[in-house]
Order: sequence, then C-alpha cells, then structure tokens
Amino acid sequence: MWALKCYKCECCGRDFVSCKALRYHLRQKHFGKVHCEECGHEVLRERLHDHSESVQERATMETHKLSWENLEERNIRHMATEISKTCRMCSRRFGTVLSRENHEIQEHSFTVSKRAQMSIGFSPHNMLECQSPQELQRFADENIRPASGLLSAACVAEIGALLMRIQACFPVPATRVIQGGSYVKGTDTQGCSEIDIVLFSDVFANVNHCKKQLREGLDALRENLKQTSHGNRILMGKRAPLSLRFNFICTEGLHRHSFEIMAYCDVLGPAPSTGLKLHLYRKLYLCDDRDMAQLCALALLPYQVDFVKASVARVKELTRLMIHWFKTSFARSTEENKFRRLPSSYTVELLTIHIWELAGKPLLFSLVQGMRAVLKLLVRYAEIDVVWHRHYHPKFPIFVKVNQKHTRPFILDPANPTVNVCDTCNAWDEVALVARHSLLKPLFSRVRAEPPWLFTDDW
Ligand SMILES: [Zn+2]
Ligand SMILES: [Zn+2]
Ligand SMILES: [Zn+2]
Ligand SMILES: [Zn+2]
Ligand SMILES: [Zn+2]
Repeated sequence: MWALKCYKCECCGRDFVSCKALRYHLRQKHFGKVHCEECGHEVLRERLHDHSESVQERATMETHKLSWENLEERNIRHMATEISKTCRMCSRRFGTVLSRENHEIQEHSFTVSKRAQMSIGFSPHNMLECQSPQELQRFADENIRPASGLLSAACVAEIGALLMRIQACFPVPATRVIQGGSYVKGTDTQGCSEIDIVLFSDVFANVNHCKKQLREGLDALRENLKQTSHGNRILMGKRAPLSLRFNFICTEGLHRHSFEIMAYCDVLGPAPSTGLKLHLYRKLYLCDDRDMAQLCALALLPYQVDFVKASVARVKELTRLMIHWFKTSFARSTEENKFRRLPSSYTVELLTIHIWELAGKPLLFSLVQGMRAVLKLLVRYAEIDVVWHRHYHPKFPIFVKVNQKHTRPFILDPANPTVNVCDTCNAWDEVALVARHSLLKPLFSRVRAEPPWLFTDDW
C-alpha cells in the first residue's frame, strides 16, 4: 500500500520489515520522548532532569547526534549570508573565499586527497546506480516523490492542525502567518520535507529589545507546544537564537516534516507597493546588523516561494532529484569539518530553474538529460552567474552596487537583491568533485546531450 520499499525509522535509522513493526518500534522507542539538548539523545520527558545529570557515554552521544544534522544545517539558510568565507574546519571568517581556502590548506592540511575523502559518500542503493532513464524514473516515483492520494491528504490535515496549534501556543496574537519551505513549494522529497512558518505580530515593531522579546516568544511557544497533545510527536532541535526548530512525526509515524518557526513584525504587509519593497531593499543593503537584516527579509518569503512554485511540474521533479542527490552522495560531516555547509535547498531550486531556462523552458524533458546538465554546471561552479529581474530593475541602484562587486558562483535571490544564495555554502569545491564522480556513473557516462540540452556540449 505504501510506496516505501523498506520501513526505515526516521528517528534512529533502523530498518523494519513491515509498517506494523515500524509503528510498534516508534511507540516503544520514540513516542513520549524528548530531545536532550546537551547530548542530542532522546529521553523520556519525565526523566529529562535526571538524565541531564547522569554522565553520558561519549561514543553513543556522537552516533545519536548525527540524526540531528539536518535540523542544524537548516539554520544557515536564514541566518548566514557569508558562510562561503568561513572555514569549514574551525569556522574562522575571512575577507575572501580565496584567503579562506588558503587557510584551510595551511592550517588544516586540507589536501586534494583529504577533500576527496571528506566529500564523496554515495549511499547504498544510490539513485546513481540506475542503469537507464526508465529505471531512474521508477526510482524517482518510488523513493523520492512524496506520497500522494490518501496519505498526502492526511498530511495536509495533520499540518493544518499543527499550524493552528502553533498560533494558539504563541504568546502574542499573530496578525499574519506566512509559510515557505520545500513542502509548500512542492519540491519536498520522501526524506526531506521542510516547512517554514513566520508569525507576524505588531508587538515586535519599534521596540528596543526586539531580539530578546523574540527569543522569549519562541521559548514560550516551545514550552507550550510540549504541553499539547501534539507534544509527543514533536522532536525539538537545538536552541537557536532567532528560530524554533523541530521535527514533527506525521501520519502514523511514517514520515516526518522539519519545521522552522520564526517571528517578527510585518514590515511589508500582504500587498505592498513597489515603493515599499524597494525601500525594504535599501534598508537591507544598509543594515549592518546581520540578525536584523535576516528578520526584515522574512517578509520576502512569499515572493521566494512563488518564484519556485510557479515552475512547471517537471522542473520540480528534477529539483527533487537534485535535493535527493545532495542528501545521498556526500560523506557526512565529522567532528573535523563540522562547519562545512552544502548549498541550501533554495539554492538547489534556483539552480535547477536556471538550467531549465537555459534549455528553453521545455514542458517535458528527460530527467537524465536534465540531471546531467545540472551536474555539469556544478562541476564548473565558478562560472555560475545568474540574476532574475522580476522584483528589481537592472538599473535599481542597490542591484547595481551588489552586482559590481559580486563573486562567483553568483545566484542573486530573485526576491532579494542583497543576497547571493551561493554564499550559504563553503564547499563548492566538494560539490564539484562529487558531481564529477557522479557523471562517471553508468547512468550518465554513456549519455550524449540531446536537444534541447546541446549547450552542455561546450561544458
Ligand atoms: Zn527508531
Ligand atoms: Zn534515537
Ligand atoms: Zn543528554
Ligand atoms: Zn580553520
Ligand atoms: Zn506528513
């Protein structure tokens, strides 16, 4: 009945032979448990206090931490614009990408072989082992595309109910709520479904200690949510300064959605004039407090969502394949390179749309050809240079200034001319390496470019 081949527990990764066995396991092992912030373990809510005081065995701590990697990585999408200049080993920030790379070689002996070892990590039963376009399509239908029909209707109901809960649990009334993330845009996969929620409230306007108030509001929401009947299906992530992150175990424990909740005042309102939007861009450009810039930019979320949502179904299918590729082709980061950040899913979405536009926006196309084109572009990432002028004019002064000093890879956020979405990644060299190795797999190695993908012949 379900499209899943084996029944993998999303909390701890164990495999089960039947859906029933998985459900039993979830109830026995994970329900009613909370995420300990110190060690990342799951513990019974009643025992959390005792647990915090007991000494943890370090080895088991490390393995359990891994399942939270996704939650931690998500944070950067909103929070950091200059990750590209940050060392992936020690997080030190540099003035340029080049000086960061030199530092990595000199201080951390980040050699070619070390890079290969830290980046390539194809998971077993990898999508790239498919031998033909037909097999790839089947793989995508069975293992990547999220469930449809009854299960997806159940999902909508579950998420709708949780959204009501979130609003009810937030300590101040929200005047407007907006949503984003791959689930909302239709680029979610079976293994990765992100839902971003922004709660707007006038309470946060014009106050001196806005960040403190936001933190308190999100902390209260966190505590209130735990008390509700949804509480035992919410696995809280680590505390972050300006957002609340958790995994929500959905319909009968079969899959989960990762939530990120943020709050601020509604700087644009539901239907802003062009003037108001340009004013916001100016404000973002001049703002030297990064947190504040991120908070103000939340108002642009609906435009980011619409940009991706508007693309045709086949583009979303290709995007899902690429998001799955990022999730299943890289070695996990270790203690040594724990500050490595791969591109955000928004970056992957924009990259895929760009490739599709280069091909002349075909309504239908071969997934193998499309994927091959994206991978070839990733190999030559230093050439990536993309701008869309849907929300800002080529002569708009802020755009002109940002464009003058831009570095590649460059994909300017179509809804925000002050952000290069490629700057959220400090491992483009690793992305290129894994892409090159992927192109050697049988799925691509014997393939030649067909129209409308002939432009990739020059790459
Ligand atoms: Zn489990
Ligand atoms: Zn666990
Ligand atoms: Zn603990
Ligand atoms: Zn370093
Ligand atoms: Zn669901």
